Amino acid sequence: MIKHDIIIVGSGLAGMQAALEVCKDFDTAIITKVYPSRSHSGAAQGGIAASLGNASEDSWEDHMYDTVKGSDFFSDQDAVEIMVKDAPGVIRKMEHFGCVFSRTEKGLIAQRWFGGHSKQRACYAADRTGHALLHVLHEQTFKHAKNIKIYSEWYLMSLIVKDGICRGMVVYNIQKGKLEVMQAKTIIFCTGGYGRAYKITSNAFASTGDGIVAAYHAGLPLQDMEFVQFHPTGLFAQGILISEAARGEGGHLVNGKGERFMEKYASAKMELAPRDIVSRSEQTEINEGRGIDGKDYLHIDLRHLGKEKIIERLPQVRQLGIDFLGLDLIDDPLPIQPTAHYSMGGIPTDSDGHVLSDEKGTKVTGLFAAGECSCVSVHGANRLGTNSLLEALVFGERAGKAALTFTQNAEFHDVNEQEESNKVKNKVEAILNSNGKESINDIRNELKENMTTNCGIYRSKDQLEICLKKLNDLKARFKKGKITDKGFVFNSELIEFIELGNMLEFSEIIARGALRREESRGAHARTDFQKRDDDKWLNHTLAFKKDGEIEFRFKPVVITKHQPEERKY
Ligand SMILES: Cc1cc2nc3c(=O)[nH]c(=O)nc-3n(C[C@H](O)[C@H](O)[C@H](O)COP(=O)(O)OP(=O)(O)OC[C@H]3O[C@@H](n4cnc5c(N)ncnc54)[C@H](O)[C@@H]3O)c2cc1C
Repeated sequence: MIKHDIIIVGSGLAGMQAALEVCKDFDTAIITKVYPSRSHSGAAQGGIAASLGNASEDSWEDHMYDTVKGSDFFSDQDAVEIMVKDAPGVIRKMEHFGCVFSRTEKGLIAQRWFGGHSKQRACYAADRTGHALLHVLHEQTFKHAKNIKIYSEWYLMSLIVKDGICRGMVVYNIQKGKLEVMQAKTIIFCTGGYGRAYKITSNAFASTGDGIVAAYHAGLPLQDMEFVQFHPTGLFAQGILISEAARGEGGHLVNGKGERFMEKYASAKMELAPRDIVSRSEQTEINEGRGIDGKDYLHIDLRHLGKEKIIERLPQVRQLGIDFLGLDLIDDPLPIQPTAHYSMGGIPTDSDGHVLSDEKGTKVTGLFAAGECSCVSVHGANRLGTNSLLEALVFGERAGKAALTFTQNAEFHDVNEQEESNKVKNKVEAILNSNGKESINDIRNELKENMTTNCGIYRSKDQLEICLKKLNDLKARFKKGKITDKGFVFNSELIEFIELGNMLEFSEIIARGALRREESRGAHARTDFQKRDDDKWLNHTLAFKKDGEIEFRFKPVVITKHQPEERKY
């Protein structure tokens, strides 16, 4: 059995930030299914929010209000307050680590506009902000290489929680083709989001929700899963992200009639309204036949910004257009459509990253979570752009600090190595020995199509019931899934098989949660219940696994400074 005081699962911003907090005092390990700098955090483009006030006067109070309003008054305001107050500090910390933020002429960290923010507060490194941040944190882990052991290309298979105590996990050493049981006093989950269940998605291949499903299988609840964010500007047919920075720098969204259609939907903020509103507006334009040439895409037009600004501020976005569509946005508008982008839901935690096992706030001993896999909940029903890198850094750090304190008096708890290993081994052998005929590629494609069509930007009872029926069929077919690689060394087909199982599992939680929630709030838009209903639904959803079914419970949203009001932009 492999033993470490603290094991962190995931090496994105949240995971590495947590590791740096604990590594000086404890024997620390990180396991990650992709090489650390390939974590999805590195794909983040546009920026990270903080009320530094370098571009215009700003305050944490304004940042807090914008975040709460953006969340459709569904975020826990105590957690939001912590995040926005901590924001300037984490930016300075990253700057001291050497992050190459873009600068103003005076040499201050430059800040740009972003959707739903009333101030110019997105700090950025051109349009490669996540890349810059991920690499400085990765460098810092090298500095502490003696204390942080990184298990790269190791895959979390199951989490072991018994009697409210987290004890360890079973992992697959991909390279050696071996199952290992790991034991730790403290485990921190930083496993990222779950956007791959959609056909058009900006998410990396690794964003398959493995961590949240492992927690769910270990008896823990998942919170607010029905809230999935669609980003307004995915490259048409590809989903690849064209950062909101493109609109922050002044890009226009245009329909088939050549109109800047956001005028109709959010006349004050226009293209810089929050993402839920802009994505819905786009979908309405497409549904009503005003896409470009009547097709299901619109244009983002940046030509008026000029070559120099585009090359300086948006080099990567420009290159994406050239590489994937053969279009240079200096000369041409780019075809775009909404793309599944961010998971508001996840493993419930308090603001110190303690994982909570019920609606009463009972903590799981020795288990923490931070970043996109967690739901603390600072984004509520809709996240504002640039608040997620911030969340990963702030709550990664806080979870690390809380884990440090916890571990000082913690011990290793019993793990039945044989039993835990056998459980996973039997599952793997059943997959490898199956003589099923169903193609997992077909099942995956149909899952993605189903979630996009029936549980996407707009949802209704009828669609969601179709979605659930289809999911049932797919789950039945998945049991007869075919696997051709029967070995256990570097079996990427096996991993894809397990990831597909995870996606089928959490997709049902998304769809069932969406069917139950008979209102429209933030990213959850029901065509049959178009209004927000605070009397009935101002409650977080908790989904538990009970006898093979999903049991739903609720807990109240924390409101401190801002009472819910109508959301206008
Ligand atoms: C294209 C794109 C652009 C974005 N741009 C911005 C932006 O400009 N500003 C902003 O604020 N936010 C942005 N976001 C969102 C933001 O990047 C993410 O929410 C954030 O980086 C998540 O960080 P994380 O540390 O929680 O997870 P990730 O960076 O996703 O890391 C997850 C880690 O978990 C590991 N892992 C997962 N499953 C397993 C397993 N089974 N076994 C072992 N390891 C596992 C992975 O290997 C990985 O290391 C963007 C997102 C995307 C997709």
